[in-house]
Amino acid sequence: MNNLDIKEIKELLSTPKNIVIVTHKNPDGDAVGSTMALHHYLTSLGHNSTVITPNEYPDFLKWIPGQDTIIKYNNNTEAAKSKIEEADLIFTLDFNHLSRSGDMESVLAKTNTTFIMIDHHQQPDSYPKYTYSDTGMSSTCQMIYHFIEKLGDLEKITPQIATCIYVGIMTDTGSFRFRSTTNITHTVIADLINRGADNTSIHENIYDTNTISRLQLKGVALKNLKVLPEYKTAYITISQDELDQNNFRKGDTEGFVNLGLSISGIKFAVIFIENRGEGIIKISLRSKGDFSVNEFSRNHFEGGGHHNAAGGKSNLSLPNTIDKFISILPAYKNVLNQ
Ligand code: 5GP
Ligand code: MN
Repeated sequence: MNNLDIKEIKELLSTPKNIVIVTHKNPDGDAVGSTMALHHYLTSLGHNSTVITPNEYPDFLKWIPGQDTIIKYNNNTEAAKSKIEEADLIFTLDFNHLSRSGDMESVLAKTNTTFIMIDHHQQPDSYPKYTYSDTGMSSTCQMIYHFIEKLGDLEKITPQIATCIYVGIMTDTGSFRFRSTTNITHTVIADLINRGADNTSIHENIYDTNTISRLQLKGVALKNLKVLPEYKTAYITISQDELDQNNFRKGDTEGFVNLGLSISGIKFAVIFIENRGEGIIKISLRSKGDFSVNEFSRNHFEGGGHHNAAGGKSNLSLPNTIDKFISILPAYKNVLNQ
């Protein structure tokens, strides 16, 4: 996004518009935080803004300021469709390929509206008129901060907006520890606290929300954890039956994949979670250092994401998915042992 783009976007935003803001399927903290931050900012400029998510998001995000106004496409499809059809401008946040928007893909693909992408994933698609893509960024939330900064509007960041942005930076950086966390990230965070983000209560609202069922499901994950020392790899499986036995709720398995990565010497960690409803195994992949889980997932599991954090899926059964995974590893033995 160059200065000319910024000038044109400033011009677009200088008169009231119908604006729709969408994010990816199974929204996370960065997705909900970035869409709500942009929503509050655009509303303050006098626009009629609507946030639409493809589906539901976890309970631990259900305190984010204004999130109760979000339209979920899967259970309010007609309302979502008409908002999209009426939109003068559509922002797509925290994803870069329309296929990541689930069932909304076909509706978004056939609109002739101007699209603006703000995203930090690898290999952005070319559907938007304006693309602000930066794979070096910690989070889409940090990019929303810089977007508002580019528009010369930092003074318009309210405590609400600061809170929303803080959430996504915190969740996407594993609380400011991943490699994507830079000195600039910390500068942004300091400014957000100055502008009214209450860091302690945000941490508590997101992380101190365990239920006994979730902790017991974590116990199952730990019991199922396997280590393959020759590949510096650890993986976890959770079957649908195990989810059912532990009253699974959306978001309960968030962060479990990092348990494998916390083992000394492990460079590659994966979790395989059976989803019988969708007939797939949902896969989350994480790495440390040079091993690219984005490439690994793109090549073998119909997914992608970032260098050190990616997602994917498999249409095989859980045991067959594990067999496939283990059969692929020898090809990566050298990279994983570097
Ligand atoms: P998670 O494992 O937390 O679901 O996702 C890790 C990262 O990979 C996130 O940034 C997420 O947006 C991305 N991601 C997750 N699943 C997919 C997928 O199926 N395809 C692509 N391209 N990216 C994914
Ligand atoms: Mn993100």
